Amino acid sequence: MAAYEITDHYYDVVVVGAGGAGLRATLGMAEQGLKTACVTKVFPTRSHTVAAQGGIAASLANMGPDNWKWHMYDTVKGSDWLGDMDAMEYLVREAPKAVYELEHYGVPFSRTEEGKIYQRPFGGHTTEYGEGPPVQRTCAAADRTGHAMLHTLYGQSLKNNAEFFIEYFAIDLIKSEDGEIQGLLAWKLDDGTLHRFNAKMTVLATGGYGRAFFSATSAHTCTGDGGGMVARQGLPLQDMEFVQFHPTGIYGAGMLITEGARGEGGYLTNSEGERYMERYAPTYKDLASRDVVSRCSTIEIREGRGVGPNKDHVYLNLQHLPAEALAERLPGISESAKVFAGVDVTKEPIPVLPTVHYNMGGIPTNYWGQVLNPTADDHDRIQPGLMAVGEAGCASVHGANRLGSNSLIDLVVFGRAAAIKAGEIIDPDSAIRPTNQASTDSALERFDRMRHLNGSIGTAELRLKMQKTMQDDAAVFRTSESLAEGCAKMDKVAGMMNDLSVTDRSMIWNSDLMETLELANLMPNALATIVSAEARKESRGAHAHEDFPDRDDKNWRKHSLATVGDDWQVDLTYRDVHLNPLTAEKDGGIEMKKLAPKKRVY
Ligand SMILES: Cc1cc2nc3c(=O)[nH]c(=O)nc-3n(C[C@H](O)[C@H](O)[C@H](O)COP(=O)(O)OP(=O)(O)OC[C@H]3O[C@@H](n4cnc5c(N)ncnc54)[C@H](O)[C@@H]3O)c2cc1C
Repeated sequence: MAAYEITDHYYDVVVVGAGGAGLRATLGMAEQGLKTACVTKVFPTRSHTVAAQGGIAASLANMGPDNWKWHMYDTVKGSDWLGDMDAMEYLVREAPKAVYELEHYGVPFSRTEEGKIYQRPFGGHTTEYGEGPPVQRTCAAADRTGHAMLHTLYGQSLKNNAEFFIEYFAIDLIKSEDGEIQGLLAWKLDDGTLHRFNAKMTVLATGGYGRAFFSATSAHTCTGDGGGMVARQGLPLQDMEFVQFHPTGIYGAGMLITEGARGEGGYLTNSEGERYMERYAPTYKDLASRDVVSRCSTIEIREGRGVGPNKDHVYLNLQHLPAEALAERLPGISESAKVFAGVDVTKEPIPVLPTVHYNMGGIPTNYWGQVLNPTADDHDRIQPGLMAVGEAGCASVHGANRLGSNSLIDLVVFGRAAAIKAGEIIDPDSAIRPTNQASTDSALERFDRMRHLNGSIGTAELRLKMQKTMQDDAAVFRTSESLAEGCAKMDKVAGMMNDLSVTDRSMIWNSDLMETLELANLMPNALATIVSAEARKESRGAHAHEDFPDRDDKNWRKHSLATVGDDWQVDLTYRDVHLNPLTAEKDGGIEMKKLAPKKRVY
């Protein structure tokens, strides 16, 4: 192995990732008086959160009646009864506080006439426990909410003396002999130096793994690096079979048109000009939950009512809305439609298609962000030294399907919760344990091996094979046959990892090596997804299994845990869903009968 010099850094906390979750955690940790480093492979304000358009859910009741119990009911129903009730209650009850905090930090929310935070309707968000009309619960800064959040949180983190390590790529976690995570090894992309972050707590906020699929709304940087690092430590990934397809990705380009567009009155049509959502979801129509709308669009296309020369997409109509409303509330998507589809939204419909958008699954945690390493006897055993927040984590508040605008709120509520917990369990005056050299060495060896890969297939080529397989076989609708075929194909694709060829051996701005490391992270995420999906013999939320069209609560109301071995073998076990909310009904909690599973119709 080549000789590598390592620079050591010592912190109470190292956060990996500077998206909404990483920045909120970083800011919170720094506010708690913890010496905090934030390591990020892209400049903070370029994290995928910057692309979040629609908004952030909280029951502020600025536009009409609303309360946390209705938000909780919608989230439980949205999750198709797979989410953990305690985490969901924590999310919806802390949500208003977390949004007002953002407001005070300086997020420039859109305003109502009276100067309150503007809120718009979003899919699956209702009143009266799903019995009343849609609610306006999604707080928005025009259609650039994520952008506004990132800029504000980055500024506040700097103000609180958090230290940023920008364009540092986290390679692997470091683990002590007795199993505690002690920090990580990172590669500074612009000068090729290696850095070891020694810390009392490591927080993974690395985002989703949308790029395991061919067509995704997420950025090219969404490669599931946190999940990859966790899998390599022998820790499981949870509920990976649940991948959300957004109904309105721009046809061809994959760029997102926010659900806020339907919230503001947009609707979908087929080749017959029919508003088909009225037929499938008579009550909430185009504002039914995302997985439902994606399936309806897919059925329309399959049954020959798609639009365009190949009848392979549908239309999103905004042209009936007043031009001033479009300019004020949806300026960003008007521009995206112009640039990526050549469409003037005031005159013509936008061609759209269900596109991979969000990963409900991820690194299992409790609602304080502490990572879980379950055993057969203790499903909630905590992994010392490690937290995960944001899309990388799985708390699990989204269960089998996430409601729109519930992710941004998840980022800030759990980023903040992780900081509160870290403030309790970390003593800033205690010494940092010496880091395990053997674990550092094995991370280095792996890095060196990847750098010198000398096989016959290029990284981009193998990545494409993976993406096409996942797109075809872990799609909106799945069958026993497509999933079995997908597992076999993915097994082959993963087997080719050793035959990769990395042509650039340098250490400075070596994007070939970086993309190879990213592919090595995508791979366990993709494998865990397809193997967990193949095993789940029911339909729930985003997992629509044509051979098992019904939800099966008796056998399958449980979380999947996938452990991916060094040989890419995936082992599955299961973990109980938390069925009890935080607060008992007699103490003012939600009525238990409201939370009982029932058929999910909109
Ligand atoms: C187009 C689009 C629109 C969306 N709109 C909404 C919306 O309106 N409302 C809503 O609630 N949700 C929305 N979502 C979902 C939501 O935006 C995401 O789930 C969320 O932003 C993820 O945030 P995050 O902080 O977990 O990760 P990200 O924002 O993806 O950030 C990940 C961070 O990790 C860092 N990182 C990753 N790997 C490494 C590594 N190896 N080394 C160092 N750093 C690393 C990156 O540099 C980055 O800073 C949208 C998603 C998309 C794709």
